[in-house]
Amino acid sequence: MVRLPFIAGNWKMNKTVREAVDLVKELKATLSGVKGVEVAVAPPFTALDAVRREIEGSSILLAAQNVYWEEKGAFTGEISSLMLKEVGCHYVIIGHSERRQFFGETDETVSRRIKTALTQGLKVMFCIGETLKEREEGKTFSVIERQVEVGLKGLGPQELRGITVAYEPVWAIGTGKTATPDQAEEVHRYVRGKLEGLYSKIISEEIRIQYGGSVTPENIKGLMAQPNIDGALVGGASLKAESFSKIVRFREL
Ligand code: PEP
Repeated sequence: MVRLPFIAGNWKMNKTVREAVDLVKELKATLSGVKGVEVAVAPPFTALDAVRREIEGSSILLAAQNVYWEEKGAFTGEISSLMLKEVGCHYVIIGHSERRQFFGETDETVSRRIKTALTQGLKVMFCIGETLKEREEGKTFSVIERQVEVGLKGLGPQELRGITVAYEPVWAIGTGKTATPDQAEEVHRYVRGKLEGLYSKIISEEIRIQYGGSVTPENIKGLMAQPNIDGALVGGASLKAESFSKIVRFREL
């Protein structure tokens, strides 16, 4: 099964509108002509509209960093799937470890967000990953199993096709400590096996699994050489056009 590699940049709480437009202008130039890879950027909410206008007509897709599960109403500070669709988002990141760590996200709230986003026609980058403590206690696979089972609960096979799983070991995010290709592959293989158990072999082979955690132009090639690593969710290195486009052009490195 050939899966189209998918590289996405998570800008987190970085970039004013002006800085976001400058970055995406540079990206359009450095990524022009790139084939055989899907690319998305996830600016902060305030820059989504400006970035959407800038990427119109290019192959770069727009992603948001979070979404609420209700459609509308008295939910101060939240953003709905419909609003993200309206502003041109194709993808939304759900369950990022920073949301779980700092904003009280649980597997259950992640699941509710996923369900609504898919129903409203967004595609989802569903983040999972163990903390350093969990890894050291030998709990990596049980944590991943729980996150996958609860996060995807109630989704049928057709809905699952709207999901990209992003395996992001928490100890590797923003720390400069990448999982080795073997360490990442071991978990990716486990996730695919889990999806096969929950759905079917055919579907598990279709779903892309990105790796995230200190991905750079220096380590992307080794990661992408693994059979079950289908792309990357990139934080720090997505904030500069030079490093992000090198990652997207990993085949040329
Ligand atoms: C992320 O936040 O999704 C991420 C992987 O960050 P970084 O690349 O900076 O580790």
